[in-house]
Amino acid sequence: MSNSYDVIILGAGPAGLTAALYTSRANLSVLLLDRGIYGGQMNNTGAIENYPGFSSIQGPDLSKAMYQSAVQFGVEYKYGNVLSIQDKGSEKVVKTDDNEYSCKAIVIATGSKYRTLGCLGEDTYTGRGVSYCAVCDGAFFKGKHVLVVGGGDSAIEEGEYLSKLANKVTVVHRRDQLRAQKILQDRAFKNDKMEFIWNTEVKEIHGDDTKVTSVVLHNNQTNQDSNYDVDGLFIYIGEQPVTDFVGDLPIVDDKGWIITDDAMQTKVDGIFAAGDVRKKKLRQITTAVGDGGLAGQNVFNYIQSL
Ligand code: NAP
Repeated sequence: MSNSYDVIILGAGPAGLTAALYTSRANLSVLLLDRGIYGGQMNNTGAIENYPGFSSIQGPDLSKAMYQSAVQFGVEYKYGNVLSIQDKGSEKVVKTDDNEYSCKAIVIATGSKYRTLGCLGEDTYTGRGVSYCAVCDGAFFKGKHVLVVGGGDSAIEEGEYLSKLANKVTVVHRRDQLRAQKILQDRAFKNDKMEFIWNTEVKEIHGDDTKVTSVVLHNNQTNQDSNYDVDGLFIYIGEQPVTDFVGDLPIVDDKGWIITDDAMQTKVDGIFAAGDVRKKKLRQITTAVGDGGLAGQNVFNYIQSL
């Protein structure tokens, strides 16, 4: 089989799946690559309540529905951990850890990955009480006491999810105000199982041979440290872009987010980006889907113009 396509889409989250739907429906040959399961971060999300058409839908269910609709027009979906992309004018080359492909256009929809605290004990206890995914690991903490670190949408939404499993959920936030959407805040403040520790950072994570038992908390107003017993920590302190394969192509900002115009086109002709990987103000499934549609349509226009 040929390794040459009209378009290669990197990442099968909501942005990549939508770009795949638009480009394949426009009769282009499409390769969709992902190094994990389709759906991206939707798979780590419990109930999604702000995707139109559903009052509430589980992340893995929405992933499956989007995937099924994306591949109905003949998209080739393959495993691929992208190592590099190369611009050779009207031809682009994509290298993965097990293959090499060429195409006329690329859509980068590789999204973002969680940030880590970088504190003592975080690496040691990851998977042994430290987690970044409540949907994946919440069940291990039934009836227990967990900390959620962060004050954004993810921390508060996943804290609420954890409160259905754990006995107590303590949100530790470095300021005295949450960043999360008001509706999430209101629900969290009314939730009997959730409590808040303000102006505080996790400084160290301690445990025994098998699991986390306590943390050292640092109050950044009083400058005091205190030991705090806990069974586990869920860390939700934001995201960083997955763009390490971009090399020296002039398409990212100083933090690695991809810069595009309104057509999702980067500075390099034929290289587009969509979804969370872009430098943008609102990272949501709805905005990822919108980006994917725009990228798909503009890839079609670009290929027509060649
Ligand atoms: P986020 O919005 O960037 O929030 C990160 C939180 O972690 C902030 O409260 C931040 O504190 C805190 N933080 C950052 N670095 C820290 C550190 N080193 N130590 C302690 N705290 C730290 O990230 P997110 O919540 O993961 O959300 C990512 C994106 O996805 C956002 O655009 C969000 O709106 C979106 N999202 C949407 C939904 C939804 O619509 N239902 C759900 C999940 C995520 P400060 O507030 O002090 O900066």
